[in-house]
Amino acid sequence: MPIDHNTYRDTNFTNRFITHADLQAKINALTADGIFKVRQAGLSAQGRTIYHLSIGTGKTDILLWSQMHGDESTATLALLDLFNFFSADDEHNGIRKQILDNCTLHFIPMLNPDGAEMFTRRNAQGIDINRDFLAEQSPEGRILKQIQQQLQPEFGFNLHDQGPLWSVTGSRKPAPIALLAPPADDRASVTPSRLKAIKVVTAINNFLQEQIPGQIGRWDDTFEPRAFGDNFQRLGMATVLIEAGGYAGDPERQFVRKLNFDGILFALRQIASGDYQNQSTDDYYRIPQNNKEIFHILIRNCQLQTPGGVISADIGLNYSEQLDLPNQTSMLIYSIADIGDLSTWGAYEYIDASGALVSGTLAIDYRADFTLKSPAGTPICFENGIIVYKNN
Ligand SMILES: [Zn+2]
Repeated sequence: MPIDHNTYRDTNFTNRFITHADLQAKINALTADGIFKVRQAGLSAQGRTIYHLSIGTGKTDILLWSQMHGDESTATLALLDLFNFFSADDEHNGIRKQILDNCTLHFIPMLNPDGAEMFTRRNAQGIDINRDFLAEQSPEGRILKQIQQQLQPEFGFNLHDQGPLWSVTGSRKPAPIALLAPPADDRASVTPSRLKAIKVVTAINNFLQEQIPGQIGRWDDTFEPRAFGDNFQRLGMATVLIEAGGYAGDPERQFVRKLNFDGILFALRQIASGDYQNQSTDDYYRIPQNNKEIFHILIRNCQLQTPGGVISADIGLNYSEQLDLPNQTSMLIYSIADIGDLSTWGAYEYIDASGALVSGTLAIDYRADFTLKSPAGTPICFENGIIVYKNN
């Protein structure tokens, strides 16, 4: 019987904006349950507690950490759902037993609670924790490094979010999941630990392809000497990077949260059983690379007045988000990303503007401020970056 994520989804969370107080409430409940071992691993720069939860008695230690970038919360939510899965007592007890008899799982959910509070990538010191492995200036980075050194886990899962404009090469579709076995050196050598990570990544890819065919990307394997994943790989921990990304109709990434849950749980089962070892490394290199070949909106075939007369062109638009954190909402501000023949690009949303004339001025990287007009009506109208009218 397949594992249904909905059974374990923590329904207190329905959007991206989980705070440290939310996490603490969850951790307090888990502490009271006594199923997980919970300890305070240390404090963030602003004094928020960073937690280390563990469960299992197996000999294979696995370390999973999320949200070292504060605005990348999808995996934190997936980990909370996984905590529910491991706390449950139901028809999947056999799966739990297999994982927990063979592995000991260590979780650090929300490594960057100060960044989470502000919903920013960086910590309260303005430091990108994932570029702080060598310099060790952030308390959060030091905590992660210390836990990894003490446990020396065989496997690590480095859980992030990527921006919504990452797509899968050749597909013109968003990449809701991107994977990587981070390189251990600048030649991207396949070291013994990286080989294990490559096989786990391949297992996750093959499993999730059923749900999102053709929409999984592979990050490029340029070595970043300051990053944690690359260094942990170098130090012999088989490290897997999972990036949660954009998916049409899922701005709060709640379906992508499910994909994270499914992918991580499948990987844990593969490690517990040893089945991941049967994966082929060729399949890993066949996962298409992550790329940026999509827009948020692509308007096709509109008529533009130019110094050379009226021409036919496409317009690609992307938005940036203006967050309203207290209300957990955001406003979308659209800018013009490209104009011309964009027939090789994809988008979350396409507007066919055949015959419609652009009224307004278009400038690359400036806020969209124009109206499309045709005898049949107005397909879309932007004012100072905001969609004020759209004909659905
Ligand atoms: Zn990140």
